[in-house]
Amino acid sequence: MARAAARLLPLFLPWRRPPPARLLLRRLLNPSSPRTLAARPDTLVLPGDERSPTPARLPPHQTCQDYGGGGGSGARAPETIAAIVTSLGGGPAAVGIVRLSGPDAVAVAGRVFRPARGAPAQAPWQPRSHFVEYGLALDADGSVIDEVLVVPMLAPRSYTREDVVELQCHGNDLCLRRVLRACLEAGARLADPGEFTLRAFLNGRLDLAQAENVSRLISAKSAAAADSALAGIQGGFSTLVKSLRSRCIELLTEIEARLDFEDEMPPLDPVVLISKINCMRQEVQDALDTSNYDKLLQSGLQIAIIGRPNVGKSSLLNAWSKSERAIVTEIAGTTRDVVEANVSIHGIPVTLLDTAGIRETEDVVEKIGVKRSEAAALGADLIIMTISAVDGWTDDDTKLIDHVLLNKKSSGSSVPMVLVINKVDCAPFVSGEQFEKFSGLFTKQVQTCAVTGKGISELEGAVIEVRGIEHVPSGGRRWTVNQRQFEQLLRTKEAFTRLESSISEQLPMDFWTIDLREAALALTTISGEDISEEVLSSIFSKFCIGK
Ligand code: GDP
Repeated sequence: MARAAARLLPLFLPWRRPPPARLLLRRLLNPSSPRTLAARPDTLVLPGDERSPTPARLPPHQTCQDYGGGGGSGARAPETIAAIVTSLGGGPAAVGIVRLSGPDAVAVAGRVFRPARGAPAQAPWQPRSHFVEYGLALDADGSVIDEVLVVPMLAPRSYTREDVVELQCHGNDLCLRRVLRACLEAGARLADPGEFTLRAFLNGRLDLAQAENVSRLISAKSAAAADSALAGIQGGFSTLVKSLRSRCIELLTEIEARLDFEDEMPPLDPVVLISKINCMRQEVQDALDTSNYDKLLQSGLQIAIIGRPNVGKSSLLNAWSKSERAIVTEIAGTTRDVVEANVSIHGIPVTLLDTAGIRETEDVVEKIGVKRSEAAALGADLIIMTISAVDGWTDDDTKLIDHVLLNKKSSGSSVPMVLVINKVDCAPFVSGEQFEKFSGLFTKQVQTCAVTGKGISELEGAVIEVRGIEHVPSGGRRWTVNQRQFEQLLRTKEAFTRLESSISEQLPMDFWTIDLREAALALTTISGEDISEEVLSSIFSKFCIGK
């Protein structure tokens, strides 16, 4: 058995090779790489900085060597990076943070930060990990540029597992930029997008699936999206991937042992084996099923409310979003442009678009509004065609829907449509049967009174049904898989399916091992233990600077 394992491991375990990610790290952190040179402080323009690039002004404690001017090859200690990690340009805030990470984080911070009391001015700063200190931030000339709180988090107890120092500054962009500039002049270099998280990943603090969720959490647009990203960071999905991979390795070891010692080992029971594989495949399928929810969480839904003027579209948008976003009057043609309001259905962010009433008009402004309405309808995930219960279905409604259908046909759009019969309070005896002849056009039909909000929950129910939201986990407290993870999970599932038929068809055991290896490799790609530089760069380049 031991011999079998010894034979198996070098063949199988891709993670025994130095993963390509490490190469990327070396390149990213090697100061002579072009990417690094581009971020040298001598050419540096900070985000939003209006000043022209300042010429190199290395402080006396810096040498060219610190910026990689010495060239040379081989692995070096990683550079110390710095960035503003709180949002910039969003107006003044009470506090903003500049973060440093790397072997010189303490030294760099020590050049910028002077504790308010305690150590004499010339003594090197001696931080105590995870203890906050108050003091002043100084620029290279020794001028005070801010009052700060400094939080040192020494390796390995930090986000990146390197020495990290955070300088909590006043939240004005100007203060933050000055403190960042001082850190760069004191020897740090500007971090690339996602570089802090990349380091956390490369230092084993997070796996790749968790790192991807960090980016999703930062950009989450709804509580459900944030919950789902948090579940991913906390490792729910990563635990599943690890467990599946270790079960693949276990099976592979069993099979390889039989290949080596066929006579000495009891034969494998194909029924037991197939049931194990089925169980793993089902777990993969459950994970794959979360990808639809992921798409909804990330991009949300757009619903266009269309109809003739005065049928109550703006009132419907206001009632649904419990706001006064759209102007409501009895004058036809009041809504001239597309008005948006946001609601949430089952945690999915939904944008409602109130459109200008679609009709023939000579009014130039209204004409533009009608064109925009038509475009919004075609680009939406769902169209709500609104009619008035008072008027019933009119010739103008027919004209309008014919026009929409023509547009849909010519653009190849298959966006589903729901019919809303509004103003039912004024026509209490309206019957849905009157509109049966249009049932082929609309997936659902709902009666509403936009003045009282009656029928809005039925309308939400219709949206849920038509867009398949009912199949998503409620509350959003579950991880979901993104497109990259979906592709690898699909690869895993297909490998399991092939494996099952190889076993059922009693193909030689060597065939079984091929599919098991394939499955394990796909799972390894998800967690990032075997991944190309291109994929890594493309993932982390989508992060913002400072994360
Ligand atoms: P739009 O042009 O389609 O956006 O229609 P509006 O929302 O501006 O509404 C036109 C008029 O119909 C306004 O006077 C609204 O108060 C009225 N209205 C809208 N919905 C209802 C409804 O359900 N019942 C009644 N009684 N009036 C409504």
